[in-house]
Amino acid sequence: MSLNKAPKNNVFYRNQNWIYPRIAYGKGIYLYGEDGKKYIDACSGSAVANIGHGNEEVARCYEEQVKRIAFTHLSRWTVDVIEKCAEKISEWTPGDLNHVHFVSGGSEATEAAIKMARQYFIERDGKNTTKWKVISKWNSYHGATLGALSMTGDTPRRKIYDPMLLAFPKIPQFYHYRNPWGCKTLEETSIKAAQALEEEILRQGPENVAAFITEPVVGSAAPGAHPEKIYFEMVREICKKYDVLLIVDEVMSGFGRTGMKFGVDYFGVVPDIMTVAKGMSCGYTPIGAAIANGEVFETIMVKGSGNFVHGHTYGGNPLSCAVALCVINILEREGYVENAAKQGEYLMQKLQGLYKYPIVGDIRGKGLMIGVEFVKDRETKEPFDVSENIKGKVTINCLEEGVVVYPGGGSVDGVRGDHFLLAPPLNITKEEVDELYEKLERGIKKTC
Ligand code: PLP
Repeated sequence: MSLNKAPKNNVFYRNQNWIYPRIAYGKGIYLYGEDGKKYIDACSGSAVANIGHGNEEVARCYEEQVKRIAFTHLSRWTVDVIEKCAEKISEWTPGDLNHVHFVSGGSEATEAAIKMARQYFIERDGKNTTKWKVISKWNSYHGATLGALSMTGDTPRRKIYDPMLLAFPKIPQFYHYRNPWGCKTLEETSIKAAQALEEEILRQGPENVAAFITEPVVGSAAPGAHPEKIYFEMVREICKKYDVLLIVDEVMSGFGRTGMKFGVDYFGVVPDIMTVAKGMSCGYTPIGAAIANGEVFETIMVKGSGNFVHGHTYGGNPLSCAVALCVINILEREGYVENAAKQGEYLMQKLQGLYKYPIVGDIRGKGLMIGVEFVKDRETKEPFDVSENIKGKVTINCLEEGVVVYPGGGSVDGVRGDHFLLAPPLNITKEEVDELYEKLERGIKKTC
């Protein structure tokens, strides 16, 4: 495959080499390149296009809402679709996570969540509260803006901006494959990872800690890594014991991606704040939200100042809310969450076939959120050196076979291998899973 160079125009691109062909259009799980080739979008962009591409019902909704009213500012006006969208979201969310603060994407959602946590303690305990620190984990991703990046434990992404980041404490991830405790089972890793939270809260002093943030299933930093139920049970208890808010970042895992409405539903616990984006509108319009429980909402909005000091111009715009409402209704009506569980299980079974290739070290995930990690030596789990660019080679080989994966990792800090995320649209059929697997296997075989 010939590699395209970054186009000579005035748009910033993330990669130095612009390897992908230009896309002409998308339909269902497929992307159609200007090169005339058809690609399976096996990562839904970045776990975004969960109802697939080119949905005409959403297009009609979009047009109708633009004609009615596209933008009003939420500080002054409300519109029926904004309220209906919030109502629908709170029908989906577990427990009393019923209070929706709209933003425009995942980073904004995690920023809003930590400011909400800080303001909660101010409104509850007074302005002299020392609670502000947010504990997070290595090998996690919570967004690119400075607050979100301060929580993010992905060293390559933090590196350049390190001096600009907030001093948020980090603990190890429940990344069993490379767990730092030498645990042999996922349950042991889960317990150790939860204990690490308690130790860190005590080290920082509970009076200084406002929140702990975690993904339920890890996205881009260690795709597919997840704990056993005991992790969340322990974490929920620890947070309660030390008066620390539990924030669960469902930006990637939410709205059916893992085969449950939310990743945290697997573990049966309810966080104090949840963040969502991506699958909330499946990429048809930018939207996200930080969703608070009754205690947080009432402390700030009813008993407190009644003013959450955090607004973005586009947060809660009618167009994005109408589209998100339409998308969530489609997910619900078409049973795509259940389909994600069913096809996820089938895909996971098929993927076991990849272990015949020695570079495949680990395959893990929930539903249609699956990570495949590559190693130089399966026995020792030694990662490939960055200079070998395995993630790039696998990606290009898969692309040549007509399947798009979401590459990541690299052994910059020696703590993980190259990997990719598989996250096809949730409306994928069994036949399409077969096609995806065949193409993927050919791409990996070519890399070996
Ligand atoms: N949180 C998680 C778990 C994510 O996966 C992402 C993006 O990949 C973000 C937050 C940031 O979202 P956005 O890119 O929409 O700002």
